[in-house]
Amino acid sequence: MEYLKTRMMKYHVKWLLPLLLCLLLLISASCAETVREGWICLNCGQEAGGDTCSVCGELRGAWTCAECGNRNLSSACRNCGKQKKVSLALQAADSRPLAAFPAVRCLADSGDPVALLRLGRYYEKGICVPQDAGQAVLCLRTAGEKGSVAAWLYLGRLYDAGVAVEQDYELAVGCYRRAADLGSAEACWYLGSCYEEGTGVEQDYAEAIGFYRRSAELGDPDAWMSLAYCYLRGNGVEENTDTALEYYRKAAEGGSALACDYLGYLYMSGSLVPQDTAQGLDWYRKAADLGCARSMYALGYAYQCGQGVELSMAEALRWYEKAALTGYPLAQQVYEVFAE
Ligand SMILES: [Zn+2]
Ligand SMILES: [Zn+2]
Repeated sequence: MEYLKTRMMKYHVKWLLPLLLCLLLLISASCAETVREGWICLNCGQEAGGDTCSVCGELRGAWTCAECGNRNLSSACRNCGKQKKVSLALQAADSRPLAAFPAVRCLADSGDPVALLRLGRYYEKGICVPQDAGQAVLCLRTAGEKGSVAAWLYLGRLYDAGVAVEQDYELAVGCYRRAADLGSAEACWYLGSCYEEGTGVEQDYAEAIGFYRRSAELGDPDAWMSLAYCYLRGNGVEENTDTALEYYRKAAEGGSALACDYLGYLYMSGSLVPQDTAQGLDWYRKAADLGCARSMYALGYAYQCGQGVELSMAEALRWYEKAALTGYPLAQQVYEVFAE
């Protein structure tokens, strides 16, 4: 009897399992069906159901070619042959949010990380959609999960600054870590500065230096600058001015405007290095070429005082104006005084 019972049980298990599996498959298939029920209208960008958009009346699947403006239902434009996918990508890259929105929403819906990042920013700022921090975070996180470094960095900065979301340094660090894992030099630099200042993590100079080094190796010249500062102050390493100067130079040669500006200041003022106005002005010029407003202002000042150059008010004004145009407040004030 006992034996028969176990036989029966085995028999049941044998048939029950495949039956359960079939049922599960059926359920999941019907779920997938319901998810696909809704669609994104390519005319107005709103979510629609049924055969036409309830907002604008557009047909399901209809799209307007971004190249020639022809309306289509097929997978390629009947007029110019452009593929629907390519047309959508073109439309989504339009710098005018209203024009880009339907394509952005449609591509985001299909999981495109670039479109998800853009839609996240729309939700953050309330462009084309009602402002919604929860949706913004969701879009940015999904974009990040799909490998978008820019999305993790963007979300990290939102948490860092407390913009649209509540300020949360720990969450910011988490986002930077995800971007760093994807090989982002910028994220490594952020992590370095978090460890240096102890924001979102316990302060740890050794960790800070490790991340700055990784960032520098990955190609962020500003990371050499942060390393140089650690050597200058003896933060986590033995104080060493020569190493600091070497790293400032590495940063400058790698294209860091800040480092060029700082070297300019060091040579002009003779701190850490023997004073050398010609070299100082050279570094200021390099920094100005890289867009550094402070160096433009400093060059204006050098011409105004005849510091290492022949005094020229015209040249001074030219540099002050340049600096003012990039939004340097001090230069704006000085320019207004002298331009009269
Ligand atoms: Zn519509
Ligand atoms: Zn076309």
